[in-house]
Amino acid sequence: MSFKLPDLNYDYNALERSIDALTMEIHHQKHHGGYTANLNSAIQDTEWADKSIEEILANVSNISTAVRNNGGGFYNHSLFWNIMSPDGGGVPTGKIAEAISKNFGSFDKFQEQFSKAAATRFGSGWAWLVKQDDKLVVCTTPNQDNPIMDIADVKGTPILGLDVWEHAYYLKYQNKRPDYIAAFWDVVDWNKVEELL
Ligand code: MN
Repeated sequence: MSFKLPDLNYDYNALERSIDALTMEIHHQKHHGGYTANLNSAIQDTEWADKSIEEILANVSNISTAVRNNGGGFYNHSLFWNIMSPDGGGVPTGKIAEAISKNFGSFDKFQEQFSKAAATRFGSGWAWLVKQDDKLVVCTTPNQDNPIMDIADVKGTPILGLDVWEHAYYLKYQNKRPDYIAAFWDVVDWNKVEELL
């Protein structure tokens, strides 16, 4: 078995109001494609070759740096594409809205906490909304780490993730990471986030 680069559910130019088409194309084909190929090479002919990505990441401290970096990259980007949509944005409703209000006080407070975490992650990494049993928390990870990994400081199931590597925004936003973060909210697919809850 080997992992396959997932197709996007929308065209590269579909999120243009927040993320430009060239960034989407390079990010998906070259970056995500690279992580996928390198993950496959790193687990080929090992005991991990027939395991799920979740199982691999949950044991990553026992595997290798190549699997940590590329397995994380494979998983993180698969989630990232999935929680964005050209029909996204706005304010969540229903179960996810209730969970956010319960855990953070209000949607505005959650958004503020998540945006601040994403803006202040030093260097390359990710900001996450993470489910821990019946609780939601915000955290960040360096590089391609994520909360599923056994080495993570904050563990749980990520239900929303934002890539803050420069490759994710530099063509359109250059050094203005906070502008990219603000624009991200316009394409978040809250129905998908709720499915992951
Ligand atoms: Mn990326």
